[in-house]
Amino acid sequence: MTNTAGNAAAGNGGGPRVVLRAGREKSLLRRHPWVFSGAVRSVAGDPGRGDTVDIVAADGAFVARGAYSPRSQIRARVWTFDPAENVDDAFFRERIRSALARRDALLGAQARQACRLINAESDGLPGVVADRYGDFIVCQFLAAGAERWKGAIAASLGELAAPRGIHERSDADVRLKEGLAPVKGRLAGEEPPELIEIAEQGRRYLVDVRGGHKTGFYLDQRENRAAFAERAAGKTVLNCFAYTGGFGVAALAAGAARVVNVDSSQPSLALAARNVELNGLDPARCENVAGDAFEVLRAFAAGGRTFDLIALDPPKFADSRAHLPKACRAYKDINMQAFKVLGRGGMLFTFSCSGLLAPDLFQKIVADAALDAGRCAQIVARLGQAADHPAALAFPEGTYLKGLVAAECGDNKPASGWKSGTQERGATRIPG
Ligand code: SAH
Repeated sequence: MTNTAGNAAAGNGGGPRVVLRAGREKSLLRRHPWVFSGAVRSVAGDPGRGDTVDIVAADGAFVARGAYSPRSQIRARVWTFDPAENVDDAFFRERIRSALARRDALLGAQARQACRLINAESDGLPGVVADRYGDFIVCQFLAAGAERWKGAIAASLGELAAPRGIHERSDADVRLKEGLAPVKGRLAGEEPPELIEIAEQGRRYLVDVRGGHKTGFYLDQRENRAAFAERAAGKTVLNCFAYTGGFGVAALAAGAARVVNVDSSQPSLALAARNVELNGLDPARCENVAGDAFEVLRAFAAGGRTFDLIALDPPKFADSRAHLPKACRAYKDINMQAFKVLGRGGMLFTFSCSGLLAPDLFQKIVADAALDAGRCAQIVARLGQAADHPAALAFPEGTYLKGLVAAECGDNKPASGWKSGTQERGATRIPG
């Protein structure tokens, strides 16, 4: 630690402070942006929710400046590690300007029209998400500090990105952990239309930014849909957990013989059907099956139905560490069902967007699933989240989406010591 407590007062005017327990500044010195409640020794100056606090070590030395969140396990999220940097409108304007500049440098012209502009902690703006859909921006404010500075953030986004309107979708469950109620609606400018049309690699999609999942579309899968499309020509395709048909439209547009979309949400599948038509693709080549994927795949397997190419993109099964063992079993089961309906020489694109599930454990689960399905497969590619969803190196939690491309290469007769369902008995050690 090189800064003194004297420095601290310079930027925060002697305002409220969070004093850490001895030694608990270590992760912050490595630029990790969270202060957990257990690391806090005392709080001085009575900060309210979202107020800016100086975070100081046990000896009083300045460590960081962040947003206080009295109800959350994450008691503070860091805005800056620079004692001389004030947290004010100009601070947010500069952070947003540099996030937008990075997208300009990273993405081509078309991708820039439907992309993530601000990816929260990894762009130095904890709890702030902003996605562009054509002329509109859709935001989420998921933490106390983000909520507190909503007005300043919307004003800078309006000025720097010049959208026709900014819409808020802060109706994610994580807000509850911050003691914040869900909010959605117009934030600035015009109300977005019912559906916004976006383009992705030459394909067209309708996005429901007001009622769809998250901010409306799974932008993080953009590059993976492209990789999937590359394998699709002439194939029979299963798009499991299809949402509005992202992978399915990509496959059909690339010449897939047939696509089956499976999702439990009828409205999502209705939009998937519209997206097929919007792209001038033959609806007769696309079947939409509404139902529970676990049951639908079992029924396909029982009926001997197989596919050459499968996308398996389930929702986040693990919301907390406590849910991880159950989530692991769900991933194992759905992947096993997918291997059962994967044809000879077929290819499975399997994903997990649970950040709590480590990549090596995910791989073990998929391996167990193949074994239990009696199939042999090779990993031919590893996939992740798109470039506009970066993960700061100092913030490993920012890496959440992982995908494996597994190519089927034959049957696998179970070894004598192998028992089906061993995952529950410890073959794959599930944490928790
Ligand atoms: N691959 C999609 C995104 C998938 S999001 C894309 O690229 O756009 C996960 C989807 O799983 C959601 O549409 C949700 O409705 C669906 N879902 C959740 N639980 C399900 C279940 N048990 N069976 C079928 N679909 C389910």
